[in-house]
Formats: sequence, C-alpha cells, structure tokens
Amino acid sequence: MKKNVISTCCVMFSAVTLCAAVPQLKGSAEAAGSMGLTVRTPTGSQMVQALTPKAQQWRFRRGGENWTETHYDVREIWLGHERGAEWKDRRGNRLVLAKPTAFCPALDKEHAKKEDIVAAMDESAEAFKEPTDETLARWAGEFSGKDLGSSALAPDDVSPLASVRLVDLGSDSRCAALFKVASGSWYYVQFDLAQAVKPKERETLLRQFLKSVGVDKTKPAGGGIVMEGRWMTVDVPGYRFKTDLSRSQGLAFIKNAGRLMEAMQAAYRRYVPPQKDLGVSTVRVFATREGYNEYMKGATGESGDRSIGLWSPSHEELLILDMGNSARNETLKTMRHEAFHQYLFYATGNGRHATWFNEGHACFFENISYDAKKNSVRIWDDPKDRRPAAVARDPERYARLVKEILFLSHEEFYEGTLQEVNDRYAAAWAVVYFLEKGAPSFKEFSGYSGVLPAYLAAVKDGKSAQEATRIAWEGVAQRNFVGDFVKFWNKRNAARRYEP
Ligand SMILES: [Zn+2]
Repeated sequence: MKKNVISTCCVMFSAVTLCAAVPQLKGSAEAAGSMGLTVRTPTGSQMVQALTPKAQQWRFRRGGENWTETHYDVREIWLGHERGAEWKDRRGNRLVLAKPTAFCPALDKEHAKKEDIVAAMDESAEAFKEPTDETLARWAGEFSGKDLGSSALAPDDVSPLASVRLVDLGSDSRCAALFKVASGSWYYVQFDLAQAVKPKERETLLRQFLKSVGVDKTKPAGGGIVMEGRWMTVDVPGYRFKTDLSRSQGLAFIKNAGRLMEAMQAAYRRYVPPQKDLGVSTVRVFATREGYNEYMKGATGESGDRSIGLWSPSHEELLILDMGNSARNETLKTMRHEAFHQYLFYATGNGRHATWFNEGHACFFENISYDAKKNSVRIWDDPKDRRPAAVARDPERYARLVKEILFLSHEEFYEGTLQEVNDRYAAAWAVVYFLEKGAPSFKEFSGYSGVLPAYLAAVKDGKSAQEATRIAWEGVAQRNFVGDFVKFWNKRNAARRYEP
C-alpha cells in the first residue's frame, strides 16, 4: 500500500515537470521597456536589467606622450545596443526582444573605444531601413551566435503583424522569430528554454507570443522618468538614477538625491578640477538587500552581503542599497562617498589612483552642510563623526599613520583587522582634510598647497599611483609633516569654513 502511494506521487511529480517544461505566457501583455511594444511574457518571469558594459582602461605611450583610453568589448556594446528587453523566470527560461539596426562591427580588435564601435555600427545602419532576408538572417546569426543563411528563415503569417520570419536556430531549447509591425520596424524575439522542448511546442509558444504583440500606447511618465518593468529611471543634470523603489516611496527620495548630487558634483569639481568631460554618471539604488546582492554578484562576481554601496568601475555604475525611510541620511552619505570614486574615474579617465588620495577624498565628501535654497554644499568635519573624533584624540598617532599609508597598494590598504582598516581610512581622510582645508587657510602651511595639484598633474602625465604620490610629496620633503599636522589639528576650527 505504502509503495503504491509513493509511486503515484512520483508519477504525479513527473507529470507536473513535463507540463511545466514549456513556459506559459502571462494572461495580459506588458510594456517591453522602451521598445514601444506590449507583449505577453512567460508566467512568473521578471524583467532583467542589462548590465552596463564593462570598461577597460588602456594606457598608451608614444614619443614621450602618455594617455588613457576607455575601451569596451565590441560585441558587448553591439548586443547592448540591439537588445531591447529581457525577461527570465525562476526556472531559467529567458525571453529576449531586440531590434535589428546594425551588424556587429567587424573591427580588427575585440576591444575598442565606444565612439569607434558606434561609428562602425552606423556604417551598416542603411541596410536595416528596408532589410532583405539575407540581411535579417545574417543579423539573427550574429545575435544568436549561430551562423545562419537566409534558408534558416521561414515566412509565416501571424495576425496582426505585417510580416513574420520564423528562424531555425537548430536547437531543441531555443526558438526565435523576426517580425515586422505595422509601422514598418523589424523586431526579433528569442526564447532560450531551460530544457529541450518538442518542435511543435516551440512553434506554439512563438505563435502565442507573436499574436500578443501590440503597440505600447502608454505615454511616457514625463519629468525625465521612464519605467522599465519595476525599474524607474530618473534623469537629473549629470546623473541618471535607476531604482526599483516604488514610485510612491521612492520618487521623492530619488529626486532629492538627484538635486543633492548635482550640488555634490559642483563640490567635487571645486576641490578636484576635472581633466576630462564627465558625461552622465549612473547611480542604481536598490530597494532590497536581496536585489542589491544579486545584482552585485552579476556585476562583480562578488556577493555584497555586508556592503551598502559600491562603485563598480568595470560596469561604470554606482550601486547603492537604500537603507529605508529612517536611515536616508546614511544612504546619502554612502552615495556621496561612492559617487566621488565614480567622479574621480570620469574626471581623470583613470581608475588606478593612490588609495590615500581616492579614499581620503571620498571620506572628505561624506560630511556636508547643505543649503537647499541655493542647492549648494559646504564640506566640513562633523565633530560627532567617528573619524574627526579619533584624530582629535591623538593627532600625532594619525600623522605618523599618514606617512605609513601614502605608499600602500590598494590591497595593502584594505587588509588586516576592521580596526586597522578604519584607522587607515581615518588617516587618509585626515591628510586630505589637512591639504584641502588647512593648507589654504594658514600661511604657515601654504607650503603644502602644491601637493594635491602635483599629484593630479602627475596622474594626468600617465604616472603610476606610487610615482604620482612620490612627486606630489617631493616639494614638502624638507618639512616636518608630523609637527605641522599636529599644529594644524589643534587649531583646525579656523579652517572649517574654508571652501575653494
Ligand atoms: Zn571608498
């Protein structure tokens, strides 16, 4: 008897598994991001956010001239450009929607400058105005990673679409189609299924999807806000915020944060003059710890189970975990710190700075007083903050620590106990505070005024972090730094109000 029950269970179980192998589509259509379409997506699926493409810093040296260039993976940039929206369910079924606009550039190298990649894509754009089957087949082959000839396309009719080509990807777990809508634009849909599925079922799935395609008539939300699934994009001068905070909870906060960051960027510029155009900086604010950790794992390969903010130079995104209504000041403080790392990367086109300079400034910008009317900030040292409090207790110890940390590598700076790392942060903050506030405020310390500019000039010249640090401090090598620092710290109140 017992045996029977178990075997019945097994049968039922496998029956359920079989049925679930083909994803079912949701009852109603949803907006496909900013593609201007509405489509039915797999039940239980959620829209997946595309990662910002990885950037690489390349250093060049020719005839005594040094410069840095940011290079990207050619295929990654092209895929990101063509891909419109993507959904995934928990079982791993994936739906990708794309719009064919150009072939993947055939450059002689895998990595190139973004403008070179875009220029190469523009060259083939003409062929996509009224694409032939050859053009579409070649594009679908490039997008799916499978070499396809036009014989892989089978014309088909699915109302209400103007034209349809079913695409044979030669796989049991993938199916795709190209379709033209009434406006004349071509689109591409691809299902990557978690398991192999019979050809008939794949075709049914595709047809159901194609039948569901409609025009997205919802008006843009306005005010620079665009919705993509649960993600909201808010543009402010200099920054693009993306957040999955709900509109009711998050919009006011994001707008305030955007205004503050505009003021912060002005302060970053005052203290650390940019050497390059900044462009738009992306800040992604997560509503939940799970969302933050999951995204971080995808972006950096590391799980961010303890951190609350991170600047990811390879994806050029600032990732911030919102600490909730009661701790928004903490969230903004983290944002000001991490956004400096982002700023320095763009402002110098260089991701390899001396840690004392980079972390010291990031900490320096954490504490501000904010004038909402003028939308401007002053940088100051909050005496309640643990760093000023620690340095004030024993300035001499921190002065000696400054000398120890100047030449530490990135890894050396962050290793050791939490206390040791915190001490290094405090020392980096203190030396930057001394150089940014003390040197211009008191005549006796004006000798130090050249340190930060010399560092930045050396970096611009293509010098390494260590070399730039050596050059920066060379000019004050004869001075008694420990003595000067202690003297400054004991009367630093007079320097607090200084702003460049
Ligand atoms: Zn930092």
